[in-house]
Amino acid sequence: MAEQPNDLKLQLASALKARKQLEDTYESQFKILSQFVVRLSLTCKGIDIELDNKLAKLRQEFSRSTDLEKILPLVEATSDSLKLLETRQQHDLKKAQSTLSEAGKLLQKQRGLPDQLRRDLRDLLSKVDQPSATVHAFLPHITTLTELYQTALGTKQQQDAGQADDHRYQHVCRQISVELTNLLSELAFEAKYAPDVEKIRLTLLSDITIEVLLESCLRTIEIIIASITDERQSAQHFLLKLNDALNTVQKNLLSSLTGSQNFRDKLSQLNHQIEQQIDALSVESKNATSLEQLQQLVSHKLGAIGHSMKEKEALEKDERELILAALKTMEQRLAELEDEAKQFKKRLSEQKFRSLQDALTELPNRAAFDERFELEIRRWQRYGKPLTIALADVDFFKQINDNYGHSAGDKTLKVIAQALKQSLRDTDFIARYGGEEFILLFPETALDELNQPLNNLRERIKKIPFKFKDKNVPISISFGATELKASDTNRAAFDRADEALYEAKRAGRDRVVLKP
Ligand code: GH3
Ligand code: MG
Ligand code: MG
Repeated sequence: MAEQPNDLKLQLASALKARKQLEDTYESQFKILSQFVVRLSLTCKGIDIELDNKLAKLRQEFSRSTDLEKILPLVEATSDSLKLLETRQQHDLKKAQSTLSEAGKLLQKQRGLPDQLRRDLRDLLSKVDQPSATVHAFLPHITTLTELYQTALGTKQQQDAGQADDHRYQHVCRQISVELTNLLSELAFEAKYAPDVEKIRLTLLSDITIEVLLESCLRTIEIIIASITDERQSAQHFLLKLNDALNTVQKNLLSSLTGSQNFRDKLSQLNHQIEQQIDALSVESKNATSLEQLQQLVSHKLGAIGHSMKEKEALEKDERELILAALKTMEQRLAELEDEAKQFKKRLSEQKFRSLQDALTELPNRAAFDERFELEIRRWQRYGKPLTIALADVDFFKQINDNYGHSAGDKTLKVIAQALKQSLRDTDFIARYGGEEFILLFPETALDELNQPLNNLRERIKKIPFKFKDKNVPISISFGATELKASDTNRAAFDRADEALYEAKRAGRDRVVLKP
């Protein structure tokens, strides 16, 4: 019995020890678990503020105690938050997937993307469509899509720059087509090229692409070359005729020369023969013994001499006829040649006329203006009388073309040109400067003397009853004028008139601006 308490004591001690060990093990395991929970909770930090708060409390509790009773409610609350978070993440996942997919498809719809970019985009979209467990899995896709967007934006910027270039080219195209139109009106083409030239002119009137402009330039060059070839052929033809005629004349001259040599030979032969006959007559008559014999002798010899004389006469007649015939042929050839030369001269003067006249309005053209301007400037320098230059430009003329067609525009220009021409004095000069612009020269006229006449011209144009598609369409015109100054070059005076015209346009059109 005495040993019983001892045994109990021992048992208690061992039980206590075992419990202590258990507690130690529990504590160390709890410590590991608590450290793990703390680390895990720290990793989750930043996803959701509510969760963050709960995890913070949990960490605090873990570090404060090992009492599961206290910790468990906190674990449960955190677990609820986690569940909620998971549902939200699933939703976010779907949203990320659909947003990425939509953004990708939107990019796919853009025009002008490089082929490689299209391929990469297709790859990306197929990856985005695959189900994924976490939003994180989409992170590389987002990066790729951002890169693709960057590339596409770069390409688009380049294309925009290209479009700006196109715009600039359009402007240059316009300028060149205006110049080409002026050139066409200054070149003198034969009537047979008129339909081709007209076709080019009409093409140039509309807004054209660089390809069409180049085509028109080429066509113009072809026509010019064909005209030059025609000219050369016609000059060649004339020269061949000339050569031909000269050959005939030369031949005739040569044959008439040899003819007259023959004639002279024959004539001297006949003369010699006649001389001999006369000599013989005189010798033989001395030897005659009777009158009868003398009479016979004389009559015989005179017969022979008469015969020779007749022969001589016939010879001379033939020769005269030969010369006359040769002269006639030569005359004929020369008349032909003269005719040919006349035609050639006519062609040249027609050509000169055409090259100085505008085909549409039949007014002098720009080349004619340049010639006349030079002349008037020389007169102005010599005599010191004033010289005024004016530019006229039809207002809003493009609208006429746009609303009623080019042929209505053409007719309008003709009518305006005639009206302007008829209103001028003989000594004034008007030319079509190109398009719907006219240039006028007023010799011996000072600028202030011109205000009234130019305004009259303006009014006259405004009063013309133009009618298009049964609609009355008033048309107005603006003028800019200036007087030549001693310090002026031709260009400076022209530019001043142009500035005045620009001012008239800016001030509302349908007016005259004089710029001293
Ligand atoms: P603004 O009042 O500023 O002068 O305006 P606008 O429309 O008259 O001026 P713009 O220079 O813009 O247009 C001129 C137009 O004239 C453009 C062109 O189509 C037309 N044009 C030029 N030459 C001819 C031609 O021979 N026949 C026809 N029908 N139109 C022409
Ligand atoms: Mg104009
Ligand atoms: Mg105009």
